[in-house]
Amino acid sequence: MVVLAMAFFSSACDETQTSPSPLPTPTVTPPAEAEYTFWVLERGSNQPISGATLSTSFGQFQTDESGKVIIRSTTGGFQITVTAESCLPFVTAQRTALTNLLIYCLHAAGNSELTVRQAVFGDIGADFNPGLHPLYRLDGPVSIVLEQRFIEEWPNSASLIYTWAQKLQNQIGFQVYASTSAVPGTAVFPLRIDQTIEDKGFDAIVTWDIINYRIVGGGIAFSRSQLYDLVVGHEFGHVFGLSHHNAPGLLNLRATPPWEYSANEVENIKLMLTWKPGTTWPLSDASSGILTRSRFSGKQMVTIGCRQTSRGIVDEVMTYSHK
Ligand SMILES: [Zn+2]
Repeated sequence: MVVLAMAFFSSACDETQTSPSPLPTPTVTPPAEAEYTFWVLERGSNQPISGATLSTSFGQFQTDESGKVIIRSTTGGFQITVTAESCLPFVTAQRTALTNLLIYCLHAAGNSELTVRQAVFGDIGADFNPGLHPLYRLDGPVSIVLEQRFIEEWPNSASLIYTWAQKLQNQIGFQVYASTSAVPGTAVFPLRIDQTIEDKGFDAIVTWDIINYRIVGGGIAFSRSQLYDLVVGHEFGHVFGLSHHNAPGLLNLRATPPWEYSANEVENIKLMLTWKPGTTWPLSDASSGILTRSRFSGKQMVTIGCRQTSRGIVDEVMTYSHK
């Protein structure tokens, strides 16, 4: 009986006291999974890109035949790298109202991601390139300035310069003047013959004066007064902002005829006109807005030396005459 009474008492006592509450069952609320729908489209044509890959930290996703892809994620703001065949990689981040991912696709024969890296962004995979840099674009129109003495002494070379100024103008869509004086308001490139650049191992050099990723002027020097289509077309390609590359074209140091800007070079000129100066590699919506976020205020100078080593130019070099 005693034991029972004790038990009863104990029980009654418990009921009148605040019992130590059991640990609450942890109720972990999983972060809500949100659904994000994207369309991958070609920049310019707005054509849907099927089979594009969206890479994120939590997986890879492919677009369907309509260019659409749905991503489910518990965290927003994730980085997305979009890749697709024949298109340049594009980096962006999920954010409110972002639905269309516009990527830049290549169509020209001989063009590739590597060629764009070399020709537009200066990748050192091609000889004498300055190294990966933001997109520097000529702030046209441009004046190529010859001394009167040059025209008088070397009329054939002067005539070649006029021809190639016209050809470059045809490709870039703004004026390229070649004359004995600079046209006001243009990016000015004095052109001179300078034998001393041969001591540095170059047949020609182009210098860019750069402010805020824009080529605002510079200079052109040739080691010899006798000029040829390849070397003039090549240097004028530099004037625009192109660097060397290993694909077909005049900016290839082992170029082969015809001496014309190749389809891939013309496409990369268009790319440079499409994207803002200051755009960095890989292309991204963040980098193309670089001008508003980190404005470069000083002046930069970049020099590209050129030594043509192609079979074609070797044949031409053989006919060089020293004055
Ligand atoms: Zn060059």
